[in-house]
Amino acid sequence: MAFDYDLLTIGAGSGGVAATRRAGNYGARTAICEKDQVGGTCVLRGCIPKKLLVYASRFAEELEDSVHFGWSISDASMDWPTLIKNKNLELERLNIIYKKLLSDANVDLIEGTATLVDSHTVAVGAGKGLRRVTSETILLATGGWPVKPSIAGLEPAMTSTEALDLLKLPEHLVILGGGYIAVEFAGIFSKLGVKVTEVVRADNILRGFDEDIRRHLQKEMSRQDVSIRSSATVECVDNDHGVYHIRLSDGDVIEADGLLCAMGRAPNTWGLGLERVGVDITENGAVRVDEWSRTSVANIYAVGDCTDHVNLTPVAIAEGRALADTLYNNDPKKVDYKNIPSAIFSHPEVGTVGLTEKEARERFGEIKVYRSEFRPLKATISGNGGRTMMKLLVELETEKIIGCHMVGDGAAEIVQGLAIALKCGATKRQFDATMAIHPTASEEFVTMYEPLLENVG
Ligand code: NDP
Repeated sequence: MAFDYDLLTIGAGSGGVAATRRAGNYGARTAICEKDQVGGTCVLRGCIPKKLLVYASRFAEELEDSVHFGWSISDASMDWPTLIKNKNLELERLNIIYKKLLSDANVDLIEGTATLVDSHTVAVGAGKGLRRVTSETILLATGGWPVKPSIAGLEPAMTSTEALDLLKLPEHLVILGGGYIAVEFAGIFSKLGVKVTEVVRADNILRGFDEDIRRHLQKEMSRQDVSIRSSATVECVDNDHGVYHIRLSDGDVIEADGLLCAMGRAPNTWGLGLERVGVDITENGAVRVDEWSRTSVANIYAVGDCTDHVNLTPVAIAEGRALADTLYNNDPKKVDYKNIPSAIFSHPEVGTVGLTEKEARERFGEIKVYRSEFRPLKATISGNGGRTMMKLLVELETEKIIGCHMVGDGAAEIVQGLAIALKCGATKRQFDATMAIHPTASEEFVTMYEPLLENVG
């Protein structure tokens, strides 16, 4: 049977675009369905707009820091609508670029909501505009979506999607959750002058991260006046004409004019017709895939957040590219999920790669831990009270570096470089033999000589 396409992708986010472009460049006949603009969560509602707001918020600290360096900047003020307008202009530009990248790779863009009709057929659009498209292979790349737990009165709370397009800054913002999104938005809004309270059900923010990162970032955020209410859950929310009353489990009621729910995301698979064609999903709706990104239906694949595996843009892109290489370039590739670096664009920034100390001890028993905490050089004049924390974990037998963690300015940029070293299996001896760049914060990673005594095996 002749199909319209070799590869038809549902979802033009990072993973879908990466796979389809690469397949198109290899000569496959390709199309991609998208109901929104091209770019997906990362470009439209996530990484990119978030980072632009992070840049905006950092100026607040830069302005404060500049005073002791002799600068005098009076009447500095922030105009939120200008920031949002310029952020949106940039997103429009990116949307055009993404469309061009697709057309340059001979990928047809089919606009509309897509559902699976059978394992080779997708229906796009609705009513008179309904169209059926067939393809030999179908790729699901529908991403994820913020979810809200069923707490009475929580429905009107915004999620990260709306927070990126607020018309006006609130005076007091309550953020529910202690994950990536919660701490990033806490940093953005508090630096822009909003009073921020973060409500976290765990004992601290960022469950699952290295304990030193959690402790250090929590201390720094509290120092910057973000109020973190840990071990607290929300019983219910009342909304009285835009004023929220958030009742906590300990009986406290917080009043705020902004409420952001950052309690996780779920795979965007509802209504796709997966059951109809026999694609297996997990309990939370994620598409089940094997190591080749293949679903339970042989010609249907899935990449990125809709598989709820490692929900990071570069991972979705790597999965998409590996799939295109495998199917259309006779170059079978699986993604290596070891040592994936990640960053949290909080204030201050977090960068991390490899194992946490807890994971390292569980896996190797005895390890060496090197940790350093210091005042950055710039703060000696600026008077900024922030401190940087860096940590290296070393396996005893091989002396390999098995974890690098940092909280402080430039953490994301620094840890990206260190991730290459970990990928290459670098040892502590090789770190020690690496010449430092002076004066930098990152030189600390190659000059930590003494392990913490209590941590030596
Ligand atoms: P996370 O899973 O990171 O955090 C969710 C938070 O909500 C956790 O603190 C969790 O608590 C809490 N939570 C969940 N359900 C409830 C509940 N019923 N009651 C109280 N608290 C609850 O999700 P995010 O939404 O922050 O981020 C989603 C994903 O997006 C991340 O996993 C990440 O992969 C990706 N992302 C990456 C970024 C980056 O790379 N910089 C930036 C933003 C997002 P608990 O810990 O107790 O479960």
